[in-house]
Amino acid sequence: KSGFVAVIGRPNVGKSTLINALIGQKIAIMSDKPQTTRSRILCILTEEDAQIILLDTPGVHRPKHKLGDYMAKAAEGALHGVDVVVFVVDATEKMGAGEQYILKQLANIRVPVLLAVNKVDCIPRQQVLPILAHYAKAYDFAGIVPISARDGENLDGLLAEIKTHL
Ligand code: GDP
Ligand code: MG
Repeated sequence: KSGFVAVIGRPNVGKSTLINALIGQKIAIMSDKPQTTRSRILCILTEEDAQIILLDTPGVHRPKHKLGDYMAKAAEGALHGVDVVVFVVDATEKMGAGEQYILKQLANIRVPVLLAVNKVDCIPRQQVLPILAHYAKAYDFAGIVPISARDGENLDGLLAEIKTHL
């Protein structure tokens, strides 16, 4: 099995931390360079049963400038070519305009979208389920996985979900 996985989400939700945790070591590849329309390969995870190519897809995020509108269209095109989208959100913050914008971008794609609800280490256990339920109402996700990228919590669960779509 192998496939392309786009990791998306607004700044500071923990995408870089997640990717570093998945790789299992700190790497410097995730510098936040100016956005381009092209997808970047962030890393390739070689598992026993799968090869997972993680992609950065600029432009899915809310544009700050007019140019961004163009990039958003390009991003939509880029997402069509991937096997799975992992949409990372921050459990400690309310779903906001940044998330709504991305969900709108995702509305037009047929690619399965997994929601990774990150930073669950920062919230009380009993608050996790209501947050997942809240997001479930906003979009028809292929799966919703609570994780802590910082602590490495449930990353196996996320990888397992990813593999079911490769
Ligand atoms: P990115 O902009 O989406 O790539 O986000 P980063 O990976 O740079 O993370 C933004 C901030 O959130 C950093 O200070 C991280 O240490 C912190 N962070 C990321 N993941 C977690 C997590 O699972 N738990 C906690 N508590 N903090 C996290
Ligand atoms: Mg980052």
